[in-house]
Amino acid sequence: MLDLLIRGGTVVTPHQTGQFDVAVSGEKIVAVALPGTMTYEALRVLDARGKIVVPGGIEPHTHLAHFVAMHPEDNLYTMGPEEDTRGMAFGGTTTHIDFCFIRPGMDFWQTLEQRTARWQGKSYVDYSFHIALGGALPLDIFDHIPEAIRRGFPSFKVFTVDVLPPHPKRPPYRLDFGRIQLAMEKVAASGGIMVVHAEDHDLVHTMYERLEQEGRTQGWNMPLARSKTSELLAFRRTVQLAERMKAGVYFVHTSAREGVEVVAEARGRGLPVYAETLHHYATFDAEDYKKPRGYIYHTYPSLKYKEDRDALWHGLLTGPVATVGTDEFPTTLDVKLKGNTISNVTGGNLGAEARVGIVYSEGVAKRGMSLQRFVEVTSANAARILGLYPRKGAIAAGSDADIVLIDPAVRKTLTRDDFHVSDYSPWEGWTVEGWPVTTILRGKVIADQGRLHGSLSDGQLIPRQIDARVLSQPAC
Ligand SMILES: [Zn+2]
Repeated sequence: MLDLLIRGGTVVTPHQTGQFDVAVSGEKIVAVALPGTMTYEALRVLDARGKIVVPGGIEPHTHLAHFVAMHPEDNLYTMGPEEDTRGMAFGGTTTHIDFCFIRPGMDFWQTLEQRTARWQGKSYVDYSFHIALGGALPLDIFDHIPEAIRRGFPSFKVFTVDVLPPHPKRPPYRLDFGRIQLAMEKVAASGGIMVVHAEDHDLVHTMYERLEQEGRTQGWNMPLARSKTSELLAFRRTVQLAERMKAGVYFVHTSAREGVEVVAEARGRGLPVYAETLHHYATFDAEDYKKPRGYIYHTYPSLKYKEDRDALWHGLLTGPVATVGTDEFPTTLDVKLKGNTISNVTGGNLGAEARVGIVYSEGVAKRGMSLQRFVEVTSANAARILGLYPRKGAIAAGSDADIVLIDPAVRKTLTRDDFHVSDYSPWEGWTVEGWPVTTILRGKVIADQGRLHGSLSDGQLIPRQIDARVLSQPAC
């Protein structure tokens, strides 16, 4: 007896897209077969006629329960997993990867333990953490990297820039390039990957100084400080160092044409370099800052220009951009609009709930992205690059039964009622074609037709291990 049979849908498998039935027993997919060929009885049958059946979305980039460093005096934190993952359940995301920051003075293992404990029993969907290394860390901290990889945390985030101007209450973000080299050596030797926020520190901070002096500190000047040239330089420098150290690199939130081009060039030379962009960067640009409430669209580094949006879509459709993340930073509208200068506009995005639906609507429905490619950029590639594949990111026998049904017939203008996390969404008023309607996590229907069936104890910490091919060449 099966636990669940999903019948009649258009199923996107790793090999082809077609009409298949998907059989689930316990938490696993046990078979994907031609319609009608599975004669087993099932406790529950889901009628997926007219729906597209895809692997649960994988959100590679969230900052939940995270200090809001733009307003250091206020001691604010972003919403936690108990709030934000509700939106993921509704929106078709079944796994997210957050961050565990290790900074000077912190104990590596104790910090990791605390971070994982914070999520336990507090997440509707599965999760893991990148380990973020920032500040003037003592060199022996890097000796923990091989053991962290063995324990299932194989991705290490570094910032090449201090994201914000210095402030006594702001924790350090930047890791100097010497320490980045050390991290790369250790990561490459043990089967991990570098996750890099790449901006040129000098260019960004001197431009802050110049804009201050010229009295041009309004937030809409952000793309002057977080410039296309800064992305170009930092991506190149990182690729060159990684090539020497033989380390794989996953660039988070690629925002400019220059970033896409550097990644495409590196991949053309056979290097294991991958780019993430954000659905935010692909759908909004710097003009949006000038709208009323325009800073709800801000995410660090910054929105860029139309040519960059076009390059990001081109990259998503044709290959060099492998994934869509969110840089999720969920706050209330009040906190999001707290700052209005280049130094204090609240960063990050509130969009993990919308991610799968927006990429479907903007990519598949409006730009002709294939369903196969849609699955790659919303799920399978993040699973491969970050070490969850094929347990996650595939509709295949043996994989976790993380499955999402998308209704391509949905036509609607999104309103507050479509969102379940905060008191605003940057996508209110956006018109979509197609939207996720059912989300299944390891065999359990956690959201269906606008109703939540999951619970906070459903999400589990998932150990990760990266396939060697991902680290030796551009594997996806
Ligand atoms: Zn981020």
